[in-house]
Amino acid sequence: MITALLLALQLGTPPVYDRVILGGHVMDPASNLDAVRNIGLSGGRIAVITTRAISGRDTVDARGLVVAPGFIDLHAHGQTPETYRFYALDGVTTALELELGTADVAAWYREREGGERINYGVSIGHIKVRMAVMHDSGTRMPVSDGAYRAASPAQIADIAQRIEIGLREGAVDIGAGFPYTPAATRAELLAVFRVAARTKTPIHVHIRPGVSGLREALALAAETHAPLHVVHINSAGLAETPVMLEMIGDHTGRLQECSRRAPGRAGVAAYGRAAESRELRAL
Ligand SMILES: [Zn+2]
Repeated sequence: MITALLLALQLGTPPVYDRVILGGHVMDPASNLDAVRNIGLSGGRIAVITTRAISGRDTVDARGLVVAPGFIDLHAHGQTPETYRFYALDGVTTALELELGTADVAAWYREREGGERINYGVSIGHIKVRMAVMHDSGTRMPVSDGAYRAASPAQIADIAQRIEIGLREGAVDIGAGFPYTPAATRAELLAVFRVAARTKTPIHVHIRPGVSGLREALALAAETHAPLHVVHINSAGLAETPVMLEMIGDHTGRLQECSRRAPGRAGVAAYGRAAESRELRAL
């Protein structure tokens, strides 16, 4: 009888969570949940997602708002405390600079070692590494030899080696932008793709425009088996974008058929919001 009484008391005392987020439209891609729910958090983790009424020491009224896992932005050129603040306001909790990247990964992370408002990450960028090796006079983007001078075999080896070092220092991926390095030969691009293949690191490429630009990147990926990610394909493809998406699908299928050992994969990203496109189109 005492046990029954204790059980009744226990059942009669609903848990008080550290924080509850009430009445929000909860969207969870992992479970496909897409409905109004209450969320209870304890110890920094989600303890319950429910339609029942719950209470907590701290309450967030989310009625009329969407509650979702933090967004991961793969194409975030702004990497300052101010831009991190804006990303947070957009629901972005991880901002990655994967296209342009940096030539000095260790220094890039050191600059942020005091901590930032959201998660961040960077690529070892072919554009930036090429600027360093070719002694380009530009600051943000190549304007002289980094863009317009062919690299010697020794310089190509230097570029490939610096990219490997960047990966060891914690780069998320390899970045590249072929339109910004027009003098980079196929041999140079192959050397960069080979590093991606050897280290099983995705290479995020701003391709040259249109179907021919995509064909070039896919051929490099096919020859080396590097995992390829085509960035903002809709700005490179415009009206040709649907055809280009089909090409990527065919490429991935073909590679998986012909190489079970190390299938190369190709992925894609597209600009979402009009406001973002306006700013990023400059790159
Ligand atoms: Zn770009």
